[in-house]
Amino acid sequence: MTAEKTERPLLQFAAPRRAKPARHLADLTMAERRAAVAELGEKPFRADQLSRHYFSHLTADVSEMTDLPAAAREQLGVLFPPLLTPVKELTTDEGTTRKTLWRLFDGALVESVLMRYPDRVTMCVSSQAGCGMNCPFCATGQAGLTRNMSTAEIVEQVVSGARALAAGEVPGGPARVSNIVFMGMGEPLANYKAVIGAVRRMVEPAPDGLGISARGVTVSTVGLVPAIEKLSNEGLPVTLAISLHCPDDELRDSLVPINTRWKVKEVLDAAWAYAAKTKRRVSIEYALIKDINDQEWRADLLGKLLKNKLVHVNLIPLNPTPGSKWTASRPEDERAFVRRLQYHGVAVTVRDTRGREIDGACGQLAAAE
Ligand code: SAH
Repeated sequence: MTAEKTERPLLQFAAPRRAKPARHLADLTMAERRAAVAELGEKPFRADQLSRHYFSHLTADVSEMTDLPAAAREQLGVLFPPLLTPVKELTTDEGTTRKTLWRLFDGALVESVLMRYPDRVTMCVSSQAGCGMNCPFCATGQAGLTRNMSTAEIVEQVVSGARALAAGEVPGGPARVSNIVFMGMGEPLANYKAVIGAVRRMVEPAPDGLGISARGVTVSTVGLVPAIEKLSNEGLPVTLAISLHCPDDELRDSLVPINTRWKVKEVLDAAWAYAAKTKRRVSIEYALIKDINDQEWRADLLGKLLKNKLVHVNLIPLNPTPGSKWTASRPEDERAFVRRLQYHGVAVTVRDTRGREIDGACGQLAAAE
C-alpha cells in the first residue's frame, strides 16, 4: 500500500464493501418469505398475510395488521425494518411532480421522483447510491459509487410513492403507480441481482408483488452488454433504454466512458437482440448538448444506425449540472436533429423537462446536500 491518494478509476463496477441494510420482506421471494416467517416461529401462511398488507395495502406497520395475533405481530415486525428516511421533499407542477431525497440506514443519500400525468403515474427510482459509470454530464456520475442498494431499498421508493398516491396526497385524487423508470441514481445493470429482484416484486401480481405491468417498467443502462444479454433471458418483458447520447465511438468514449469497454455497435447489437427476444421497442436516450453531440451529421449517422429497427429515440435537452461548461442545444439545432431522424423514418420524441426547477436531473439533489 502506498500513502498516495489513488485517483478514482474511470469505471467502477464493484461496489465498495459496506454493511448491508437489514433484510426486509420485499427482499424475499414468496418462498423465502414463508421460510423467513417459519424461522421466526410462525405459520408459513402468515407470509401471505404480510405480503397482502405490504404490497396491497401498502402498510409496513405491524400494529395495523389486526388479522395477526399480537404475539405474531411482534415477532414478524423484524421483516419491516425502516430502510428509507425522507430528508427533503420538493414539489412542482401544482404538486403533481414530487422529488424525495432519502437517507439510507448508513447515511447514503438517494433520490426518487413521482410524476403524475393525466393518464399515468411514473416513478423514477434509484438503484445505487452514487454511480460508477462516470458520465461527465451527469451529477451522479461525478460523485462516484457509494454502494449498491438492496432490492427492498429499491422497492420501498415505489411503495412510498404508491402510499402517497393512495392516500390522495398527490393532486388529482387517489391513484396507482403505473410506470417505473430506473433513471434515478445509479447504473441498474451494475447492481443486477438486486434490480432484477426489485423488478420481480414490482411486476408480480398482488399480493406477492405490486402488480405493475412489466411493459410499464423501463430499465435504463449505459450499455453493459453482457448484462443486457442476461436481461433478455429473464422472461421479464421490461422496456430497455440505452443511454447512447452519441452515434460514434470517438465522442462516446468520453461522454459515456463505458464505451471504452463496449462500442456503439456492440451495444446496439445487444439492444436489437433484446428487441427480437422480447418484442419490445428499445428506447435510445440522447441528451442534446450544445455544440457537442447535436450536429446534423450526427443525427444523420444516428438515423442510419437506427433505421428500420424496433426503436424509439428520446431526446433529452441537457439539464446542466452546477458548474458544467455544457448546456442544452439551441432550439433550432434540436429541431434539425429531430427532422433528420424523422427523415430516416425513426420514431423520436423530445422528453419533457418536468422537475427541472427542483433539480430533477439525476443526482442533483443529493449533490447539493
Ligand atoms: N445509469 C443509467 C440510468 C440513470 S440516468 C443510465 O445511464 O441509463 C437516466 C438518464 O438520464 C440517462 O440517459 C442519463 O444519461 C441521463 N442524464 C444524466 N444526467 C443528465 C443531465 N444532466 N441532463 C440530461 N440527461 C441526463
